[in-house]
Amino acid sequence: MANGLTRPVSQSSAIMGVITSFFVVGGVQGLLLTTRAMCLLISRFWHITDVHYDNTYFTSQLSCNDDVPSPGPYGDYWCDSPWRLVQSTVDFMADKTRELGVDFVIWTGDTIAHIKNEDTSLDENLVVLHNVSAALEAGLPGIPVYASLGNHDFFPDGQAEANVSEIYQAVGDMWRDWISNQAQVQRFENGGFYATAVRNAPKLRLLALNTNLYYHVNKVTAEMADPAGQFQWMKGQLQEAKASGQKVIITGHVPAGLLVPGAVDWFHPRHKKSFVQILFDHSDVIAATHFGHDHHDGFKVLQKPDGSGAVSQFTAPSVTPWRYRIRRPSGDEVGNPHNPAVRLVEYDRDTGEHLDYHQYFINLTDTNTQNRANWAKLYSFKEAYAVPDMSVNSIKVIYDRVKDGEGKDYTDQFCRFSLVSALEKPCEDRVRGEIYCGGIHHDKTKVDNCVEDYLKRVNHATPATRSGLGFFVPVLITLSVLIGKCYF
Ligand SMILES: [Zn+2]
Ligand SMILES: [Zn+2]
Repeated sequence: MANGLTRPVSQSSAIMGVITSFFVVGGVQGLLLTTRAMCLLISRFWHITDVHYDNTYFTSQLSCNDDVPSPGPYGDYWCDSPWRLVQSTVDFMADKTRELGVDFVIWTGDTIAHIKNEDTSLDENLVVLHNVSAALEAGLPGIPVYASLGNHDFFPDGQAEANVSEIYQAVGDMWRDWISNQAQVQRFENGGFYATAVRNAPKLRLLALNTNLYYHVNKVTAEMADPAGQFQWMKGQLQEAKASGQKVIITGHVPAGLLVPGAVDWFHPRHKKSFVQILFDHSDVIAATHFGHDHHDGFKVLQKPDGSGAVSQFTAPSVTPWRYRIRRPSGDEVGNPHNPAVRLVEYDRDTGEHLDYHQYFINLTDTNTQNRANWAKLYSFKEAYAVPDMSVNSIKVIYDRVKDGEGKDYTDQFCRFSLVSALEKPCEDRVRGEIYCGGIHHDKTKVDNCVEDYLKRVNHATPATRSGLGFFVPVLITLSVLIGKCYF
């Protein structure tokens, strides 16, 4: 198979290595040496996104979508994040980093609150970006943050420029030490994207993209075939990585995959076509892609219609608990409340393979009541979905289990985790269909047709046979958990 990620997963390879070392290198000593070497390669990075810090939360409440007469100290589901929530998130990341060790942070944008253009300015946005950048730098000293801008960070909102601009220059200067390479700082100043070496992982490179250039509300770039030349640059970076034997992690704000539930398409159609084609053409060097913007927790496979060229896409849930409200004559449409969240990803420094992630959160209601943020683990990917890792193959296995309406446990979990919600909401069949179809298709028409087919199937379903992985998955997970703990 063409895709490098469809090779046997790293931990199953690792398990074979352990078994081989036991017989070849020499019993227990060989086993310990090999396991210790593997443990040194397994490390972690943070994914923080959509902080949306509202510095008016306790005064004019400019981000709030409803009246909040007694705002909680850590925030409110109708509003963006107060500073105490931002600082609490950074403090939690710092504590865990001291405990476990973390190589780097990816920060995928939307740091500015949902505030109307007439109530803010570029200068105010830059102050907020500086405040949050400084908090991350102070909380995680010496750990690089590979950061991207989100659509709300621009002024006016969503209008990312396709060439040198004041925001790129100011933020490039702000993030200079994290980007670390002068040529790449200049690259950022001319379009808001850059490439970087990955700390502690010389066989990896990271492309921090500016996908706001493709966002469907961006009027500046709507008619451009390749805004800021980012497509051409991506191809060059991916080819260079391949030639030098590196794998690539791609990060950015607006994802190409559809928002689930709802099947919302974020990209201009022409840009989406070019973007996904580049991913498909270079899927053998792409370790994974990570985005924000959805505010929902999600994972998908971006792939050609025949299933080739597949790349994983993960979206991490937001720090902000904000729920949207769209006012309509027929009645308001309101979004779901989110609990604040931050994600820790385990990966292999040598191969770039993504092994697992741990999703942390706080229950905002309890936190405000107790006036204390008790960050806790909501779930871990491997355990929750009973797969051996975060590879394309594992995601395909998950979606295979739910395609005929079977595997409701998985879609129920997806529904619950997607909003990081303590609310136990029923997961309706249409949402299950959108989870499945949006997980394997990136084209809106295909998703809509797929959902209708799904609904027909589940309404006439007979119990289907589960995947044949039923025996092997628990065995692999047990072994990989033992290795992943690194008890020495
Ligand atoms: Zn956002
Ligand atoms: Zn956004």
